[in-house]
Amino acid sequence: LRHGFDIKRYIRTIPDYPKKGILFRDITTLLANLHAFRAAVDELAWPFLKGGIDYVAGIEARGFILGGAVAHVLGRGFVPIRKKGKLPYRVIGQEYALEYGVDTIEIHADAISAGDRILLIDDLIATGGTANAAIDLIRKSGGEVVAAAFVIDLPDIGGSKLLRDKGVKIHTLVSFE
Ligand code: 5GP
Repeated sequence: LRHGFDIKRYIRTIPDYPKKGILFRDITTLLANLHAFRAAVDELAWPFLKGGIDYVAGIEARGFILGGAVAHVLGRGFVPIRKKGKLPYRVIGQEYALEYGVDTIEIHADAISAGDRILLIDDLIATGGTANAAIDLIRKSGGEVVAAAFVIDLPDIGGSKLLRDKGVKIHTLVSFE
């Protein structure tokens, strides 16, 4: 890492959350530490400092915290991608599969214009289902996904590979096997 700063040790692991057998990677401990939060945001942003991004889009909810800060660093506007029913104006939606059932994420219909270059931000990529739906949503809006950046990759689950195979540039900071 550019800072030589070990952000990984600020990520707390909670066993059996939200259900038995899951190791939840909790970033609240990273966010609360001024050095770790700044290092994570700077590391997410640095490949894009030279330009080429029009908007930063973040996925609810942890993608808002990180994405808002990355947008500030890059000097760009922020576009929220939210769970169904949360955005007040006209929306475009995208359904995606969960382990059991489906979910929908939404973006304001006028948030992105044709040709806008988007950096997508979330805290973690596992199956890639959420990020994949967000990418489809941005593309439906006419935007181009320049890259998707995450603090945490779970490479064994395969989401980052899935998205790379689909031609999306992926930037991640730490991984947990
Ligand atoms: P995926 O759709 O790639 O399977 O799951 C990623 C989404 O679920 C992200 O929006 C992420 O915030 C959330 N998520 C899943 N597992 C974890 C976890 O262990 N820690 C955190 N912080 N978020 C998780």
